[in-house]
Amino acid sequence: PAIATARTLVKTYGAGETAVRALDGIDVDLVRGELTAIMGPSGSGKSTLMHCLAGLDRATSGSVVVDGAEITRMSERQLTRLRRTRLGFVFQSYNLVPTLTAVENITLPLDIARRRVDQAHLDSVIAAVGLADRLHHRPSELSGGQQQRVACARALVSRPAIVFADEPTGNLDSRSAREVLTFLRASVDDLGQSVVMVTHDPNAASFAHRVLFLADGHLVGELTRPTAGTIL
Ligand code: ADP
Ligand code: ADP
Repeated sequence: PAIATARTLVKTYGAGETAVRALDGIDVDLVRGELTAIMGPSGSGKSTLMHCLAGLDRATSGSVVVDGAEITRMSERQLTRLRRTRLGFVFQSYNLVPTLTAVENITLPLDIARRRVDQAHLDSVIAAVGLADRLHHRPSELSGGQQQRVACARALVSRPAIVFADEPTGNLDSRSAREVLTFLRASVDDLGQSVVMVTHDPNAASFAHRVLFLADGHLVGELTRPTAGTIL
């Protein structure tokens, strides 16, 4: 069963002569327990699709169901609550709090929500992310790849229905990128997380279970179980 679906999803920016149809009737299912990659040329609608699925952007028409809930008619308040309690986010720029240590950054969403730390789950996330000897370092003492792995762990720690990753390896060298992608993939295979990422990088997409290709606001292709080298 899908963890998120879009049906005839249309997103238009602006109005009249200058209107841009960023998404032109998308039908898509994000499969529960998979790492899905969204690829396509610049301007093809990748970010818009991700933002509509994550309740960050409103569909112009069509249906978006996330974790069993139709979100297109939710109020801003309901959407904010959904994002805080049920979704995880990873951005290109890490967005860590510079004054907090790695482990404090990882548990921050739980502290803010005043949720109890599930120590066993926290331990399994920390083990999987491979930062056990860096937990008390601040972001400035960590490499870019390590900072992004902290950001991924932070997104995962509250057991969200879906983690949304927007160009998670966009600022990283290929070795650091591989470490981040290996962790995201392991979070799916070993912890049962559902993850969707937007990426320009075919090497990054080869870590996914499924790759969706967008062009001009349309879904133009889908590849399951890619192997390295099959995406160009
Ligand atoms: P991608 O992520 O694939 O680069 P986007 O989803 O960012 O594509 O953009 C899809 C189209 O929508 C592009 O033509 C872009 O210029 C347009 N667009 C995106 N965001 C806005 C916005 N806030 N206002 C107007 N046009 C936008
Ligand atoms: P980009 O690097 O693509 O510009 P941003 O980091 O600016 O992405 O964030 C994209 C969108 O996500 C923005 O609208 C921002 O307000 C929103 N956003 C950022 N962090 C969070 C968060 N933790 N929860 C919900 N929304 C967020």
